[in-house]
Amino acid sequence: MNVLVLGSGGREHTIAHKIAQSSLLDQLYVAPGNAGTAQIATNLNIKETDFQAVKKAVLDHNISLVVVGPEAPLVAGISDFFAADKDLSHVNILGPKKAGAILEGSKDFSKAFMKRHNIPTAAYQTFGESELLAAYKFLDQLKAPYVLKADGLAAGKGVLILDSKEEAKAALKEMLEDKKFGEASAKVVIEEFLSGIELSVFVLTDGKNYRILPEAKDYKRIGEGDTGLNTGGMGAVSPVKFADRVFMEKVENNIVIPTIKGLQKEDIEYCGFIFIGLMNVNGDPYVIEYNCRMGDPETEVVIPRIQSDLLVMFDSVFDGTLSEADLAVDPRTATTVIAVSGGYPEAYEKGKKIVGLEEASNKDKSEELLVFHAGTKLDGEDVLTNGGRVLAFTSLGADMEKALQGSYKALNKVCFDGIYYRKDIGQDLI
Ligand code: ATP
Repeated sequence: MNVLVLGSGGREHTIAHKIAQSSLLDQLYVAPGNAGTAQIATNLNIKETDFQAVKKAVLDHNISLVVVGPEAPLVAGISDFFAADKDLSHVNILGPKKAGAILEGSKDFSKAFMKRHNIPTAAYQTFGESELLAAYKFLDQLKAPYVLKADGLAAGKGVLILDSKEEAKAALKEMLEDKKFGEASAKVVIEEFLSGIELSVFVLTDGKNYRILPEAKDYKRIGEGDTGLNTGGMGAVSPVKFADRVFMEKVENNIVIPTIKGLQKEDIEYCGFIFIGLMNVNGDPYVIEYNCRMGDPETEVVIPRIQSDLLVMFDSVFDGTLSEADLAVDPRTATTVIAVSGGYPEAYEKGKKIVGLEEASNKDKSEELLVFHAGTKLDGEDVLTNGGRVLAFTSLGADMEKALQGSYKALNKVCFDGIYYRKDIGQDLI
């Protein structure tokens, strides 16, 4: 079959890399892709949210499966668009419709959904623009630190955690009245602070059947020791030691099953990934957020640990056989370390020449070392930086130390002007 992967990050390069190994694949396309996907697929110069252009590409290239990487096209309704167009009725699209993507698109919806289905999460209330005084009153009932969340998508920046009530009230006013995040903060969720270690759990589902994929932990802050500004993610590891059988059974019974049943009860069709961001609070999992797609950089460690044929698994989502599909997982540890442009997540420059990629890449093709591209582009023979997060260095090893050695060894062969990375990925778990 011919397959199109939508997106341009490390997540999409990783998914494309795995699909490229499938026995079911004929031609692979990525839109818009990056310099890394260009080596294994045909990049199409199309924006993920330009549905008409995606449709044209699907028909022109006889594509029968579209895998949607990021959330924006899902929340904007790309799967609804495909379902409504009879020219596309033969095409499978992996990713939920708007009604399911709202689990990520609206934090107020997702919190209310969790409440309706008794899924453990932090206590909360939602307030609209005319409810500032009521919101202040609710803040008065909570203890510091204070968690404020813009209801809508805010490119990962819509969550504020504040130590003092004065700061929290000022921030709340900015969000609700001054529309700090535009329409995304027309409503604000205020919730109780949960103290614990975070974990990312990934579920592939057809809306009825589900499979839990390997779990991962990501490192969000720019600075070592998890300090400084939040980023899209500076590294990730999988598996995570505390996610043992007992803990994962709680995740399955208290969170995954009620989530799938909740979707069914509410007549929400769902086909694709559910990414559950959760907090381990004294051995019990609490949901922090749902996302309607895979995580980035978690994908760079989760997918390389899956040994089964990814397209066979995706096919089983569409023909109702997901429960029986083969899901073999590599027992080794996978780590990924992200190299970013100097200045990120604030202002940074693009267009810096990347050297050393050839030396860093895995020559024996053993799949133990994988360099995934994120913000890169081709300029003739050269590969240039083209974003904040530039490259992901994934390595598989017998344990965390060995995997990390591989990631850092590869990273140290690569250079571009202003390169920065965290040196402490995974250290908290060793
Ligand atoms: P992202 O796009 O980075 O996944 P987001 O903007 O969708 O994030 P959340 O994941 O809900 O927002 O929150 C961002 C981060 O804030 C979480 O990863 C977690 O570290 C922290 N956080 C969120 N809610 C809570 C809470 N109730 N208690 C403690 N920390 C929290």
